Amino acid sequence: MKIAVLKETATGEARVGATPETVKKFVGLGADVAVESGAGLGASVADADYAAAGATIGDRAAVLAGAEIVLGIQGPDPAALTGAKPGAWIVAGLNPFGDRARIEAYAAAGYEALAMEFMPRITRAQSMDILSSQSNLAGYKSVLMAAAEYGRAFPMMMTAAGTVSAARAFVMGVGVAGLQAIATARRLGAQVSATDVRSATKEQIQSLGAKPIFVENVQGIEGEGAGGYATEMSPEYQAAQAELISAHIAKQDIVITTALIPGRPAPRLISDAQIASMRAGSVIVDLAAESGGNVEGAVSGETVVKHGVKIIGAKNVAGTMAADSSALFSRNLFNFLSAFWDKEAGKPVLDEEIGDAIRLTRDGKIVNPRLLS
Ligand code: NAD
Repeated sequence: MKIAVLKETATGEARVGATPETVKKFVGLGADVAVESGAGLGASVADADYAAAGATIGDRAAVLAGAEIVLGIQGPDPAALTGAKPGAWIVAGLNPFGDRARIEAYAAAGYEALAMEFMPRITRAQSMDILSSQSNLAGYKSVLMAAAEYGRAFPMMMTAAGTVSAARAFVMGVGVAGLQAIATARRLGAQVSATDVRSATKEQIQSLGAKPIFVENVQGIEGEGAGGYATEMSPEYQAAQAELISAHIAKQDIVITTALIPGRPAPRLISDAQIASMRAGSVIVDLAAESGGNVEGAVSGETVVKHGVKIIGAKNVAGTMAADSSALFSRNLFNFLSAFWDKEAGKPVLDEEIGDAIRLTRDGKIVNPRLLS
């Protein structure tokens, strides 16, 4: 059974879907692994490292020839998969809600597209969850990006020339990325506060030494919600949240927004008027910019200045730490495929719970209920 690891073709994508560590493990399971020449360069992995781990190295056509599984970070161009076996699995982050045409093309070409973003949030799948592994790094880096753009220091400093006051940082959306952003901002010495719609996050915020800012007069989401995800909030909640945030945000120097709702555009959390209320020189990082943005005026992949406030529209932040993000992403892919490895078949055989959750296409059709409803 042959596994192909392709060089990513999306602009600016430096990550790679396998590392020498995971290649070695796949080979240990009995798979043949072929890596496209140069695939690891963006993550500082040389062809020779893959070869030493047991992979064959070749051009795209040679790597794809007879492949039954194609691994990637982002979904490969369906037109550039010539040579892969009919029914081959395409296993990557496939952006199912954002790139319908690509999913349809996988179906038309007869591939079985498996979207790693649809991995169910169940305990046994935690080690397979690309959203968590990549968000964790993105949350960390978002704070460093803010610090680099901020014309002041994060920690309080008492110097002979006078005192520098601590930055006030506010994290909106306390999932995986938000928790790491809180921890990072605290480590840099900022005074940190945070908010979320899920009441379960209040304790997590406090345990990291940050201050929770929560809407108290309208019910949020109790407990963990469906699969741990947020849903769209009522107009009443949104109004109460806007009022609370307006009062708080005017006093903040750094704001990191991370709020996402699966399958929906990101919720709008910060208005232009709220940006105008912030002190000039403040920095906002919108980690949801690629999904429509939490911040009015944020542009994905760009930094814009509004009312003297820098708004960083973050794009593929995990990709800026390609060595670490590739290592974690690759382990997610290996953990997934190896968990289902069938020794007799010499390849993975999926069960219903996970297979049906992540399979987008099969037998020429789109089959995933989340894409059909
Ligand atoms: P996410 O990326 O979907 O969203 C980021 C955060 O934004 C969430 O905390 C969400 O509640 C919040 N949010 C959404 N709308 C908001 C609004 N209007 N205002 C303020 N905040 C808003 O979330 P995530 O990082 O994927 O994590 C969600 C939960 O799932 C966490 O509790 C996490 O621990 C859990 N999780 C479980 C597993 C697993 O069991 N396999 C894996 C990953 C995450």
